[in-house]
Amino acid sequence: MSIKDLARRAVRALTPYQSARRIGGKGHVWLNANEAPLAYPFTISADRLNRYPECQPPQVVDSYAAYAGVNADQVLVSRGADEAIELVIRTFCEAGQDQVMICPPTYGMYAISAETCGVGIVEVPLTTRRQPDWGEIKSRLSDVKVVFLCSPNNPTGDLVGRDGLIDLLETADSRALIVVDEAYIEFCPEASVVDLLARYPNLIVTRTLSKAFALAGIRCGFTLASAEIISLLAKVIAPYPIPDPVAQIAKQALSKDGMALMQERVRELNAQKARLKAELKTLPCVREIFEDKGNFVLVRFTDGARVFAAMKESGIILRDFSNKPTLADSVRITIGYQGEMDAVLTVLRDIR
Ligand SMILES: *Cc1c(COP(=O)(O)O)cnc(C)c1O
Repeated sequence: MSIKDLARRAVRALTPYQSARRIGGKGHVWLNANEAPLAYPFTISADRLNRYPECQPPQVVDSYAAYAGVNADQVLVSRGADEAIELVIRTFCEAGQDQVMICPPTYGMYAISAETCGVGIVEVPLTTRRQPDWGEIKSRLSDVKVVFLCSPNNPTGDLVGRDGLIDLLETADSRALIVVDEAYIEFCPEASVVDLLARYPNLIVTRTLSKAFALAGIRCGFTLASAEIISLLAKVIAPYPIPDPVAQIAKQALSKDGMALMQERVRELNAQKARLKAELKTLPCVREIFEDKGNFVLVRFTDGARVFAAMKESGIILRDFSNKPTLADSVRITIGYQGEMDAVLTVLRDIR
């Protein structure tokens, strides 16, 4: 016996999420975690740090509700969207009994959270057109409690088709919850499905301040759902999940000025993305450019490993997806500011 053997079976079997920070590397251009390229000045006061914070800071909840177009009782603030994903699983799935559905290739944390909680995973891969396989999903719906969809999908950049989603919400009814992860929705706000919350009580939308709001460092995310679902999740969340400094910064980010800054940043990054894509199309080492609805582009190269290595050599850290099913030779590039995109293109132009 060793201490390791005391750990739960699910934990012993677990491979932790290979986050961009954990993989690390030496570089000066970080384009591997879909972060925003620049930080913005926020001010924090230490006046209330002797007190426990509010469980759900009201001004943050109210501003996010106003921004998302829902009622305040339809919002839960959490430590990033990652905690929201885990809360849904811990609230609705019985360990050793229930299962969640994922549609790979997609964001890795749905599976990791399920595994840590001892919850099973049903995989229904995306179709060749990289849409959820609606027929297959519906036929296996009775096996799962929660279906995770991601729109825009990380890492392929595709949106989930709205008609298919509506049909799934109707089929699932009150038997399964459908989560739509909108971590990148600010880059294509017109594609949000938040309006469907009013019609479908089995829909959950997750959001974050980590991407378009340039606040990955504060760990602040949101769940949008029916008031009934939000109060169930609120039973499970920690008593003081949101540190007061986080609430102070989130409040500023969601103010009128903060929102204007976010929208300006989105316009700039979307313009850089268009420029990068146009250049990529002319390069001989590029085989396929995937959809681009987020602040990243997945690219299939003639030799993905070679591109990844050449970038690393130049201090540019990208995210390699070439070992994922259907993504051979594919590397994801986070959209950064002009100088960073120029550096990427300079390396690529030298690859034959
Ligand atoms: C980055 C990301 C998240 C995590 O967001 P945090 O708020 O930083 O935890 C969730 N979902 C997707 C699809 C992401 O890409």
